[in-house]
Amino acid sequence: MRLDYLTIFPGFFAPLELSLPGKAADKGLLAFGVHDLRTWTHDRHRTVDDTPYGGGAGMVMRPEPWGEAFDELVRAGSTGAERTTIVFTTPSGEPFDQRLAEELATREHLLFACGRYEGIDQRVIDHARGVAEVREVSLGDYVLNGGEVAALAITEAVVRLLPGFMGNAASLVEESHAAGGLLEYPVYTKPPQWRGHEVPAVLRSGDHGRIAAWRHDQAVRRTAERRPDLLTPSVLDDGTPIVRAT
Ligand code: SAM
Repeated sequence: MRLDYLTIFPGFFAPLELSLPGKAADKGLLAFGVHDLRTWTHDRHRTVDDTPYGGGAGMVMRPEPWGEAFDELVRAGSTGAERTTIVFTTPSGEPFDQRLAEELATREHLLFACGRYEGIDQRVIDHARGVAEVREVSLGDYVLNGGEVAALAITEAVVRLLPGFMGNAASLVEESHAAGGLLEYPVYTKPPQWRGHEVPAVLRSGDHGRIAAWRHDQAVRRTAERRPDLLTPSVLDDGTPIVRAT
């Protein structure tokens, strides 16, 4: 997989080298490039924004630097696999979730377009649809100052799904928001007692059947308490009774 980031704040992406994506790059699972949008400006002030047509507060990102950057960075291969997926980070996009992370993890090339100010001139998105797959993605129902933090969060969720990335792929299976649809059960490690809190005895019993049943029960309870919206009939089609907290 290749990941490219278009931003006016390239420094935001320094953590890529340190964290999980950096490790994946070391393993040869991915390559990434960070690009300063101002590279594709031609005036002395390297201008990327201007006042909005129709008036109103704030500035809007001009289309020309984005267009020229896409001309250089987008791969327009004839097969789906070669094609670039441009991810526009925007609070008006589709909400980012684990399903979308799984989908993006199947792509060969992700190009993140990180907006600033009041956002990017709409014609950039309209144009991008003609040269690449386009996804407009929101990190959540709140407004950030720019798309960089959203792009980093999406990257981390996607990269850990790449085959060969996790040391133990089994750890992806039982996670919150994985295919089962439940939140993860509580986890414990040594010591067995700490500040008066004890590890549940069942986890030290060595009985794998009882441990699996306990974990499933805890996952259902936790989901019912914290995120009852996730308990769709398909999640519970094993007939597990829901025990709600009182
Ligand atoms: N005026 C825009 C609106 O109301 O939709 C918000 C612009 S915001 C200040 C600047 C940039 O931050 C956006 O273009 C987008 O790239 C990014 N951004 C802000 N909130 C975001 C969110 N929830 N998810 C993803 N990106 C976000």
